[in-house]
Amino acid sequence: MNEINKDLIDFKNKYLKKWNDFMIKRHGKKFARRCDECTNCFNQGYVIDNGIEYYCSKKCLNKHYSDKDFNKMYDEGKGDSYYTEWECEEDFQYYEDGTEIMEEWNENKNH
Ligand SMILES: [Zn+2]
Repeated sequence: MNEINKDLIDFKNKYLKKWNDFMIKRHGKKFARRCDECTNCFNQGYVIDNGIEYYCSKKCLNKHYSDKDFNKMYDEGKGDSYYTEWECEEDFQYYEDGTEIMEEWNENKNH
């Protein structure tokens, strides 16, 4: 890695924390997913078809799928639809107001 790249990366990392604080102040806390029904952000909810759709609650899920449908899709854990909880901040994709968290931010979390 040459000097200029290193300086730029140092600069970027140094200001990511400030950027993060600024964005949270402006757009609210970070959340994992956004509900396709009510658009609320959430960290615990339903995943349909490995992420084609997301629903924050049973109420929102039931507007699209009955319990019977969902149980069939869930297939006792063998299906691609399930209820889950996201805990890892790297999986978080939205701020509270629905603004998407930039991909590059997520990459930089690891450095
Ligand atoms: Zn919802």
